[in-house]
Amino acid sequence: MERTLERLAKFRNLSEAYLSSYRHGTPAFIRVLPTDRCNLKCAYCWQHNNASADMTIDSFRAYLKKAKELHVGLITFLGGEPMIWSPLCEALALCTERHVMTDLTTNGTLLTSATVEELGRSGLDYLNISVDGTTANEVTCKNSIFRSDLMGALKEARTKHHMHTRINSVIYNNNYEAIQTLMEFSRKWDMQLSLWFIVPPLDPAQRPDKDIYFSVADEPLLRDIVSDILEKKQAGYPIIDPDSYFENIFRFIRREKFWDCNYPTRYGWINVTPTGRIRSCTKKMDELDFRFLDLDLESLGRLRSILKEKVRTCNIDCYSNCAYDSYFYTHNKGELIKKVLRRLKVT
Ligand code: SF4
Ligand code: SF4
Repeated sequence: MERTLERLAKFRNLSEAYLSSYRHGTPAFIRVLPTDRCNLKCAYCWQHNNASADMTIDSFRAYLKKAKELHVGLITFLGGEPMIWSPLCEALALCTERHVMTDLTTNGTLLTSATVEELGRSGLDYLNISVDGTTANEVTCKNSIFRSDLMGALKEARTKHHMHTRINSVIYNNNYEAIQTLMEFSRKWDMQLSLWFIVPPLDPAQRPDKDIYFSVADEPLLRDIVSDILEKKQAGYPIIDPDSYFENIFRFIRREKFWDCNYPTRYGWINVTPTGRIRSCTKKMDELDFRFLDLDLESLGRLRSILKEKVRTCNIDCYSNCAYDSYFYTHNKGELIKKVLRRLKVT
């Protein structure tokens, strides 16, 4: 009962955040990056820095206060790997106290029955687990979901704490068999699955020496992959990305410009780094000359103009599913409503 009331208060706060965003341009959701460190080393990753310092819990308290002033409805915790940040559960509980919905993306390495229970008790609403395969290999070790104890704990957290779990997976040019296993797994456990095509880092110097990216030469393989995914979606597998994300991969590899990243709009995320500055995108390790604590309507306008300029240079090289999906659902509100209803039903 207590959890149900908490969730209702969070939904009300989220609705108010949307309304404020619509009326005044405030950000409905922010991403907090409490650490840039990570305990893995995926071959395709350029999004961590093990030499950096973490956010303190006192700083987080100040950011949460600021987020409430800005009418934020949802805080996403990302990294690096946010589960190596020791005050994570304290931060989640603070968000719950202030009726802010929370979402956490983790590589899953630190998930156990005990940590899942702790996350659920802190009031975490959405847990996104990155899983790229069934076994560890030289590209990625993200396969936690197949550990025997984990699904029981996640199921219990769903019933007991209303903590919903989703799987995020990367498709690269030789892991499709593992992705098929994951699709079966997500259907068996009625767990939402988000799939994205890997793309090279924006900075060519960070490109790994492994040949894992798709090119025009991979069109026949991609056609098989896309038609398999679309068939499975049609058959009711809980894959949440829109059909057009998969269909448009051919336009992406031919370097067409066909979508607009939402980062510079009121639907875009504001990313708060461990030092409290704004990062223009979680796919970049930059820090802009904006402190989150100083943001107001006037500086938000300036920030969005800067983001607009930045997106002009990176959009054509990026096919992030979260950015694409955000763009798609912004322009297809009917599909958005269906997606929300599915999320409420499936989870
Ligand atoms: S788990 Fe995420 S942050 Fe860590 S190395 Fe892999 S992709 Fe990068
Ligand atoms: S297009 Fe958007 S999501 Fe992609 S790298 Fe640029 S700012 Fe980031």
